Amino acid sequence: MMGKIPVIDLSYQWQSVKTESLSVLEEVLNQGQYILGNHVAALEQEVAEYTGNRYGVGVGNGTDALTLALHGLGVGAGDEVITTPFTFFATAEAIAAVGAIPVFADIDPKTFVITAETVKEKISSKTKAILPVHIFGLMADMKSLQELARADGLKLVEDACQAIGAKQDSRGIGVYSDAAAVSFFPTKNLGSYGDGGMVLMEDEELAARIKRLRVHGSTQKYRHAELGWNSRLDEIQAALLRIKLRKLDEWTKQRQTLAARYQEALNQVPIQLPSSPRDTEHVYHLYTILAQDRDGLKQHLSNQQIGSSVYYPLPLHLQPALAGLGYQKGALPAAEDVSEHCLSLPLYPGMEEQQQDEVIKAVKAYFAGA
Ligand SMILES: *Cc1c(COP(=O)(O)O)cnc(C)c1O
Repeated sequence: MMGKIPVIDLSYQWQSVKTESLSVLEEVLNQGQYILGNHVAALEQEVAEYTGNRYGVGVGNGTDALTLALHGLGVGAGDEVITTPFTFFATAEAIAAVGAIPVFADIDPKTFVITAETVKEKISSKTKAILPVHIFGLMADMKSLQELARADGLKLVEDACQAIGAKQDSRGIGVYSDAAAVSFFPTKNLGSYGDGGMVLMEDEELAARIKRLRVHGSTQKYRHAELGWNSRLDEIQAALLRIKLRKLDEWTKQRQTLAARYQEALNQVPIQLPSSPRDTEHVYHLYTILAQDRDGLKQHLSNQQIGSSVYYPLPLHLQPALAGLGYQKGALPAAEDVSEHCLSLPLYPGMEEQQQDEVIKAVKAYFAGA
């Protein structure tokens, strides 16, 4: 019996950047600019380049990245924004934060993302934007969503908080849309040591506006062109993220290799494995399966000291905080079904094959015994 296997473990990432990080940390602390300095500007450029975008604007977190992108694009009071119910709560919160109304479209039960077909049914005269979420690291079909948005004159914003490095037809997040929001929350694929986020985009004017919005709508000291937010990225976080960004491709490859090993080893087990369309590159922020008796499997793994997590147990349209939107159970059957049966298995850079074999053995044993 091996030691505990957590669902996510960040220690390998830290150990691989530790020496370099500690020296940069000292340099930043010595130099005395702690918010929005040279490292933030450099990180903005590097992440924009990494994802194939013209501009990156660093902000306080991924939720603010969504909020500022929506506000910057003119989405506001009374506008409807079509999004997915199968996501972290922040997606809908950002829509509500700018005064708009989240409208939920159902997901594809195989890929867990919204599609042009499910979105189309929800378009009304009040629709202003579409906000797909690249859940677990798989891009929604941005090409068809872009086509739909263009045809209807809608804004298109990506919640790419879980999907830095993901691609469709070799093109990254932010490229098919007006803007993409990234989160640097510690467990994300590019995680900081605190909170952080970024908006990625092509449009220069939008970038300038979001730069203003993150500092109280100010363009020069004590001159405020409009009302904004206080949502800035720390120098320390940016400096440390720049070091991690140089490792990101390697860590993504590790995630993909682990995912391929699960895929191979579990394909005879009666569970639904993640699937990614042929034109996409999945970055496996999480490796999420569907199991009929999800809670039984979770308990079985826990008994063997193997971690697993339910992302997400309650779709947003059934959240108490959004009851005012008036959705009933049964309204979005695919999202509800996935929420009941989803389970994320351990997968992280630095996970050893031996550890993964333990997880595979335990999953197989559960179904052999059942
Ligand atoms: C993490 C996450 C967010 C929010 O990011 P924060 O940095 O925690 O604010 C939004 N949407 C999704 C899908 C996320 O996973």
